[in-house]
Amino acid sequence: MKLHNLIEDEVFNAIDSIKNEVQVKCLCEKCKLDIAAIALNNLSPKYIVTEEGYVYAKANSMNYQFNTDVIAAVTEAMKIVGKNPKHD
Ligand SMILES: [Zn+2]
Repeated sequence: MKLHNLIEDEVFNAIDSIKNEVQVKCLCEKCKLDIAAIALNNLSPKYIVTEEGYVYAKANSMNYQFNTDVIAAVTEAMKIVGKNPKHD
């Protein structure tokens, strides 16, 4: 059994969904994780207990509804990282 934060899935889904709408200079793995970290620090976690290997995102994607708080936090994080990427 594992603890899993559902908001992590939502944040990564949100990044993929709005990356074409929000101007981001760079979306490399580093910047993507920086965006996710900033957004997740501004959101309340939603922990569930999962079976080992159970991929919640797959089951969830069938009826996926974006949380507006998640979208707002990701949009804000994209602006912060876009202005100041933490690499050359
Ligand atoms: Zn980058």
